[in-house]
Amino acid sequence: MKAWVLSKNGIDNLSLTEIERPKIGRDQVLIKVKAVGLNPIDSMVVDFIPVSSPIIPGAEFSGEIAEIGEDVAGFNIGEKVTVYPRYFDGSCKYCLSGNEMLCDNGYIMGVSSNAGLAEYAAVDSKNVFKLPDKAGFEMGASLPVAALTSYNALERADLKKGEFIAVIGAGGNTGMFAIQFAKKRGAKVIAVSSKGWLKEFGADYVVDYKNAAEEVKNITDSAMADVVVDSIGEKLWGLGYSILGKGGRIVVFGTETGKDVNIDLSQLYSRQLKIIGSTGGAVHQFSEVVKNSSDLKVKVWKKFKFEDTKSAFQAMKDRNKDGRIIIEQ
Ligand SMILES: [Zn+2]
Repeated sequence: MKAWVLSKNGIDNLSLTEIERPKIGRDQVLIKVKAVGLNPIDSMVVDFIPVSSPIIPGAEFSGEIAEIGEDVAGFNIGEKVTVYPRYFDGSCKYCLSGNEMLCDNGYIMGVSSNAGLAEYAAVDSKNVFKLPDKAGFEMGASLPVAALTSYNALERADLKKGEFIAVIGAGGNTGMFAIQFAKKRGAKVIAVSSKGWLKEFGADYVVDYKNAAEEVKNITDSAMADVVVDSIGEKLWGLGYSILGKGGRIVVFGTETGKDVNIDLSQLYSRQLKIIGSTGGAVHQFSEVVKNSSDLKVKVWKKFKFEDTKSAFQAMKDRNKDGRIIIEQ
C-alpha cells in the first residue's frame, strides 16, 4: 500500500512510500482511510516533535472497515467509522476512572505510532466508532481531535446554560466546534474572530480581536465572560484573561502561538478566577460526540488529494486559512 512516511523532521523527509499493508491483530480492525483532517499536532510532528523511527502521521482520520479481527464483534465490512486517536492501556488509574487521555502508558496516534496518512490503518477495535448515516468522512475526520478537544474543554469549564462564553480563535479547527457545543449547552456565545460565517455555526456575536474587550463589556453589560476558551496560547492569553468576569474560568488546550504567559495573581484570587487545562477527551466523551454528530457542521477550506499531502501541510501555514484542511482518498 501507499503511505506517507516521515523519516525525520522536515517536510522534505515526508515521502510517499510503498510499504506492506498492516496485518491486524485479533482485536483490531483494518480501516481503508477515506479522509484525514490536518491539525497543528500533525504540523508539529512534521516540523519538530522528535520521531525516533519512521512514522505515518495523520492523527485525525475516518474510513471504511476493510477487515475485522477474529475477536472483534459489532462491525461489518464497509461500515463508515472514525477513530479515537489515542492509544490507552485500559488498566491504569486514569483509564479506570474514564480519563483515557491521561493514560500512564498512552500516546497520540500519528505522534508515537502510525496513523491515517496511508491507504490502510490497523486500529484496536476499542478505538473505532461507527459514524451516524448523516455524518460523512469529512466530519469523521473532524471529530477525533477538533470536536473532542472542544467538547472536553467545555465540560472541564462546566459551562452552564445562560452563561456567556467567549471563544478565542473561534474560526479554527477546535473553535468552530466550541461554538457549536457551547450553543448546545444553552450558553450565550461570543466568537472572537474575524469570520462572519461563525454566526451560521451558532455564535450569537462575532467580535474582532482588536476591540474584543470593549465589545464583551457591552454585550455582557460589564459582567464580562463566565468562560473563555483559549485554543491558541500566548498571543491572545492577555486578552482572554482580561475579559473574564468574577468567578470566570479560562480553559486552555493549545500553544500554537507560544506557551509563556503572565498571570496576574491578584486578579486570580480577588475575582476567584479558575485557569483550567484540557487535553483531547475521554472515550465515553468521544462516543457521545460521534453519536450526536449528525447535526454538527464543519467548515472545510481546502481539500487535497492523498498524493498532494505535502501541499496540504504547506496550506496549514497559509495566513488566509479559513476553515479545515482535509486530505481525501
Ligand atoms: Zn491507562
